[in-house]
Amino acid sequence: KNLKKYFPIKGGFLKKTIGHVKAVEDVSFTIKKGETLGIVGESGCGKSTTGRTLLRLLEKTDGEVYYDGREIYGLPKDEMIKLRTKMQIVFQDPYSSLNPRKTVSQICGEALVEHGLAKKGKEVNEIVSDVIQKCGLAPYHIRRYPHEFSGGQRQRIGIARALALNPEFIVCDEPVSALDVSIQSQVINLLMDLQEEMGLTYLFISHDLSVVKHISDRIGVMYLGSLVELAPKDDLYAEPLHPYTQALLSAIPIADPTYKKKRIILKGDIPSPANPPLGCRFHTRCPYAMDKCKTEVPEFKEAKPGHFVACHLV
Ligand code: SF4
Ligand code: MG
Repeated sequence: KNLKKYFPIKGGFLKKTIGHVKAVEDVSFTIKKGETLGIVGESGCGKSTTGRTLLRLLEKTDGEVYYDGREIYGLPKDEMIKLRTKMQIVFQDPYSSLNPRKTVSQICGEALVEHGLAKKGKEVNEIVSDVIQKCGLAPYHIRRYPHEFSGGQRQRIGIARALALNPEFIVCDEPVSALDVSIQSQVINLLMDLQEEMGLTYLFISHDLSVVKHISDRIGVMYLGSLVELAPKDDLYAEPLHPYTQALLSAIPIADPTYKKKRIILKGDIPSPANPPLGCRFHTRCPYAMDKCKTEVPEFKEAKPGHFVACHLV
């Protein structure tokens, strides 16, 4: 609720704070149990920062985060540690997110030991063999090192690490963006199977609209730190209301040469999040911008049941 995350910009001889990167600005949404909420947007729009601030991997600047009715930033330390086992993350880059000096068993079992859920050795090995099997890897792989695996297999290990603690909620931060297209669908299908089997809830972050469309129930679109639209998947694709969403969707290639789709080309570049435009943050690139858009921030409101949008036109 009204989540904000600013990063200080240090400058000058004394490394004083001379400004802030407003990475997440007043973002509000809910995720329902068992669903996949997709978050799309171009790189640097605040998707990952939103995901990490939800998990308290980054501390918020302002706003509230509720998990199952409890505000997590207000929780005592021991409660937060307990909650950590329920909320996990799968990272984008399976190459850099796995420690090359550790075996699969150590990588996936580390948190089990830290949380006192299993003893090092046989107990951990059993749990990890089981969880990597769920992720499509044979149990004997637990003694191997990350460099012995392909990209797709490494991401399976990244997913197994997140699953080892038997979590409820997982932030998937571009989990297939670093993989070959031929491998992407295998990993997406694995995530969908695991969701069904284990009753998982996902926040699925991606810059790729076709990937998000495949896996999500509802989709949120972010631009320059703000959520500009949020709707059930089919509504969003059938009738995007925000001019930015319309432009994003118009850029998806369609495998039918007879279908004439008008591509909306946005002018200019994304402004710097250190100095975002006043009013509607999209006004410098919006084809429909009016005077009002330069000064008044459009409210994020429900235009149709379950379909939220922040635009003065709607
Ligand atoms: Fe465009 Fe104005 Fe709507 Fe922003 S509020 S998206 S600038 S029309
Ligand atoms: Mg990111």
